[in-house]
Amino acid sequence: MKKIILIIAASLTIMGASNVSWARVKPKITILATGGTIAGRAESATQAAYIPGVISIEEIIATVPGIKNLADLEGIQICNISSQNMTQSIWLKLCKTIDSLFTTDSADGVVITHGTDTMEETAYFLSLTVRHDKPIVLTGSMRPSSSLSADGPFNLFNAVALAASSDAKGRGAMIVMNDYILSADDVEKSHTINTDAFSSPNLGPLGYMRDGLPHFFRVSGVRHTTKSEFDIGNLLTLPKVEIVYGYAFSDATAMRAFAENGTKGIVIAGVGHGNYNREYAAEMERGYKSGVRYVRSARIHKGGVDSAAEEFDQRHPVSGLKSPQKARILLMLALTKSNDSNEIQRIFNQY
Ligand code: ASP
Repeated sequence: MKKIILIIAASLTIMGASNVSWARVKPKITILATGGTIAGRAESATQAAYIPGVISIEEIIATVPGIKNLADLEGIQICNISSQNMTQSIWLKLCKTIDSLFTTDSADGVVITHGTDTMEETAYFLSLTVRHDKPIVLTGSMRPSSSLSADGPFNLFNAVALAASSDAKGRGAMIVMNDYILSADDVEKSHTINTDAFSSPNLGPLGYMRDGLPHFFRVSGVRHTTKSEFDIGNLLTLPKVEIVYGYAFSDATAMRAFAENGTKGIVIAGVGHGNYNREYAAEMERGYKSGVRYVRSARIHKGGVDSAAEEFDQRHPVSGLKSPQKARILLMLALTKSNDSNEIQRIFNQY
């Protein structure tokens, strides 16, 4: 045995001496570019106003030193929009493109460059619908590409490094911004202009990036990706679900208009612990009978909504820790399976 080890060691030394290189196989990472501030440009390096979604993914990659050492990179321009203009057809396209890249083994991980305004929604949608364990990482920037100290290049470097890491597998879709790694299920944009714009108000970040390596503190505790039951492979549209905000003496006219115009589900961004007033309650009673399903969520960022509350109707499921915008996505997917309130609550308890 000793002899065999010695022979192997000697051969490796000889190969090393004769300069035989043991080329490291780099992971294949595809960047799907959708636009946003990371693809934006301003008239000067210090001006706050800018136009988002104007430069291509090739131009963005060219601004990131060392990025090509991390992975074999391919860039695909899915669209070039501000993320406030995101559409469900782009979501479906992203989901199907990622599924095909992973199924055919054309990518070991994907990065999606995205506007920051709705990035958390796209992340959560993909976490629930891409049924693979390979890394899915979203990133963007708060400052346009032309800015002094633009944050996009380092965010993109970190996102590619994370997607290329075997440690990132099986963690659901993640957002990387300002060195933090945040989980799709609880991340929120929580600052309108600062570069430290994203947080997970209830559970904190999953970890952080340093020197091109991820350091994780925790794992997401909810069902996602390979454990998701949602198969949208054959869907061309998703059920229409809207959000209605709660506030002092809110009027139910908008809620009623939604219900009368093809909306299948409504998330209430309720006051306090997901509360709503009597006008909303009366309209929800009427809408429920006509088949609309309501989920109680909260306009408050911490604490979530559970069923131990003040006066409320047991038939309306509660969102748990999900923000109204995340609850909307989960309700859209839940309604592809069932409109039974107990079943919707079961889904909200698990994802
Ligand atoms: N409105 C922009 C967007 O979401 C903001 C950004 O990217 O930071 O596309």
